[in-house]
Amino acid sequence: MKQRLVLLNIYNKQDARTNFENKNGKKHLGIRVGILLLLSLSLLIFSACAKMPESLIGPTNESSKANFQRELQQKPEPVQSNSPGTAETVHVTSDKIKIALTFDDGPVENTNRLLDCFEKYNVKATFFVLGSKAEKNSDTIKRMDALGMEVANHTYNHTSLRFYNYQEFTAEIERAGDLLEKLTGKRTTILRFPGGALNYRQDVIARIPYSIINWTINTEDWKANSKQVIIDRIRNSKDGAILFLHDSPVLTAEALEECLPQLLGENYEFLTISELAKANGIMLLPGTIYDRLESNR
Ligand SMILES: [Zn+2]
Repeated sequence: MKQRLVLLNIYNKQDARTNFENKNGKKHLGIRVGILLLLSLSLLIFSACAKMPESLIGPTNESSKANFQRELQQKPEPVQSNSPGTAETVHVTSDKIKIALTFDDGPVENTNRLLDCFEKYNVKATFFVLGSKAEKNSDTIKRMDALGMEVANHTYNHTSLRFYNYQEFTAEIERAGDLLEKLTGKRTTILRFPGGALNYRQDVIARIPYSIINWTINTEDWKANSKQVIIDRIRNSKDGAILFLHDSPVLTAEALEECLPQLLGENYEFLTISELAKANGIMLLPGTIYDRLESNR
């Protein structure tokens, strides 16, 4: 009997040890599974962050550039719409001579004559408008926008940085920018200095929060004595050229009415500043002067 009790005791101890080892084993297994789960979770979070849209993780210059490049590469081949009743053309073809017509100091009465011509030929252009004139001719600004023209900033009162200090100058830009945003629903980031951004200090230019557009060809339309002079200057432009014109000269409107149908038949394409930059792979940056937008590729 005593022997049986000893044996029973030994078995009980062994059972207890086995139970303990099993429990211990299960505990270790639990820890391992826990670690594995944690690792998987970290991997999932990491990959989700990598795919997270820019708006959630905040834009970076590098990611903006990468997106811009991707957008350029994904741009579909141009398609000319054949469906009747649609005037819409998808721009950008590599074999065309793409140029940007730009018009300063409007809108004025003659601006609508220019818009009639652009509407007729489905041509796009950029207007560097004055806030003071936009305020009086808000319908013309809205028409520009509706026709796909680029409405860009030329300050409120044709304020030159030569005669005003930086604060006064930027206040005039923002005053015009606010008004144009109210009229078009878009905030332009494109500016032409009154008189052009010529001979300014680089550190001053770099602080301007707009892409500053000069020109490749000055048509001098404001002092031309014949429309042919203006036509010849437009015809001389190469791909990526920015042409400097004005809203008000009647000869400018006459020159365009005559030469646009000809030039369109000669493989020219007329784009806004932003469209031309994009078509030629140029990212327009603030605080930078552009006097041409030719392709670097
Ligand atoms: Zn001007």
